[in-house]
Amino acid sequence: MNTLAGPLGNARPLAAAAGPMIDPFGRAVTYLRVSVTDRCDFRCTYCMAENMTFLPKKDLLTLEELDRLCSAFIAKGVRKLRLTGGEPLVRKNIMHLVRALGRHIEAGHLDELTLTTNGSQLARHALELYDCGVRRINVSLDTLDADKFRTITRWGDLGRVLDGIEAAQKAGLRIKLNAVALKDFNEHEIPSMLRWAHERGMDLTVIETMPMGEIEEDRTDRYLPLSKLRADLEQQFTLNDIPFKTGGPARYVEVAETGGRLGFITPMTHNFCESCNRVRLTCTGTLYMCLGQNDAADLRTALRASDDDAYLFAAIDEAILRKPKGHDFIIDRNNRPAVPRHMSVTGG
Ligand code: SAM
Repeated sequence: MNTLAGPLGNARPLAAAAGPMIDPFGRAVTYLRVSVTDRCDFRCTYCMAENMTFLPKKDLLTLEELDRLCSAFIAKGVRKLRLTGGEPLVRKNIMHLVRALGRHIEAGHLDELTLTTNGSQLARHALELYDCGVRRINVSLDTLDADKFRTITRWGDLGRVLDGIEAAQKAGLRIKLNAVALKDFNEHEIPSMLRWAHERGMDLTVIETMPMGEIEEDRTDRYLPLSKLRADLEQQFTLNDIPFKTGGPARYVEVAETGGRLGFITPMTHNFCESCNRVRLTCTGTLYMCLGQNDAADLRTALRASDDDAYLFAAIDEAILRKPKGHDFIIDRNNRPAVPRHMSVTGG
């Protein structure tokens, strides 16, 4: 029997019952995204309302509990684990969890440990992230204009994020930039962002805005179908489709003029649910089997019911059997958000 010992807890036997997770449509679940906190130090206008009510801290799983849950998923075949949020790097002592999870990389039980961050805290964590086994991260960046950055994030400071990116690159972390493509906000800036990212050895992925959670504005006003953005980009760049994959939903092209990669995440115009390999865990131990559906499983009860992971494995198996075929996001003025929770709850 395997044992996974780590700085956060005692050695824990991996039960033999930890079989792989195959959903009713034959898809193997090998990718876990974990929202370690619903809190964030930014308030991106398309993501959150300005006055968000966050979970009381006492409702959060402890870092030890998150480690145990993640380890159970790894025992059940997860090979890629992404920490997200909210902003993962604002969770107190988050590096304890990163270090603990890093042991699975070292042991060969996990192929990749990564995170999605807004970059605000990256400068002080970059070296340690690398030391813990993280090699690649996603940094969300919607504009390179400091004033526009302040407008879209409400509270963010572009200079700090750029310093974070520089520190991360110096530490040896590879970076992919993620930009939500927003009509009349950054759509005309994407070409210069693309050049900027590629000159610095970073990929850029653009994302369609998704109808998740109530915000002050109507997302329809900012919705930009990536089919249109791609057509516009093709006026000045040669985009060649390539089979490159990172385990996520992006489809990539190589930009002939820059030699770099550009990804498209198109949940609205073209979802790729047929190849979905992932599930999402919140910081309260709720498992969402689909980003765009409401059905969820409570893993916290199973986690706290017993020290024996067998309960947890059974609860996970039951949840995976409920993984839906896909989501059906619709964005128009007559519809409320497809799901009431904000992206910061489920983790983007
Ligand atoms: N704080 C971290 C960050 O900024 O990357 C991680 C969490 S954030 C919710 C993850 C990603 O989701 C960000 O790239 C953000 O732009 C994106 N996002 C948030 N709300 C979204 C929405 N409604 N539609 C599309 N992307 C969204």
